[in-house]
Amino acid sequence: MKLDVQVKDLGGGHEDIRLADIPDICPRCHRSVHPKHVCMSLLRERRLCQIAFRCIHQKCQELFVATYQPLNSSSAGRNEYGLTGLAPLSARQTEFPETIQDVSPTFVDIFNQAVVAESQDLTQLVGIGLRKSLEFLIKDFASSEHPDQEAQIRATQLGSCISQFVSDTNVKECAKRAAWLGNDETHYTRKWESKDVSDLKLLVKLTVNWIDNVLLTKKYVAEMQASGA
Ligand SMILES: [Zn+2]
Repeated sequence: MKLDVQVKDLGGGHEDIRLADIPDICPRCHRSVHPKHVCMSLLRERRLCQIAFRCIHQKCQELFVATYQPLNSSSAGRNEYGLTGLAPLSARQTEFPETIQDVSPTFVDIFNQAVVAESQDLTQLVGIGLRKSLEFLIKDFASSEHPDQEAQIRATQLGSCISQFVSDTNVKECAKRAAWLGNDETHYTRKWESKDVSDLKLLVKLTVNWIDNVLLTKKYVAEMQASGA
């Protein structure tokens, strides 16, 4: 959707321009909206426009700023500008199953901090955060499976911890690969060049899913031993 607006510079000068697109998702509440434009600025020397929008959803109503750059095209006598960025962004928190929240609340916290870093384009920090979240997830899970060996689990390196203290094959195979990619995120050189942080995120989520399966299965087996069948 295009929008014709008049933008003003600091000295009071103005220009009529056409915005080639307007944001259709609020970066604050992530709802699909037609935001209201409330303030239009021209940063003449930097060849930028910044438009303050307001989310019209009753439960949000927040302001955010969209940045536009010239597209080197014009229509109806107006220079066209294209959307290049939105700020401030808020991260969409990931919800985890109850089993995971119980076993490792710290994992949930660190994972969601990594998601915040991702939403702020702090791309170098996302992988490091995911790697740390994986360590808490595995060690807390292993400790819940082997409570008598908790001290040893905590002191063991992640890779060895996965091989020694995780018995479920699916958890083990996914966690192992997540740890390999996690090491790539924290070391100077990469071993897995065809994989990136999105693969790491997916492997951490897979590990979460398998752990959830293990814990739920264990719960029901424990609760339903004497079926009388
Ligand atoms: Zn909103």
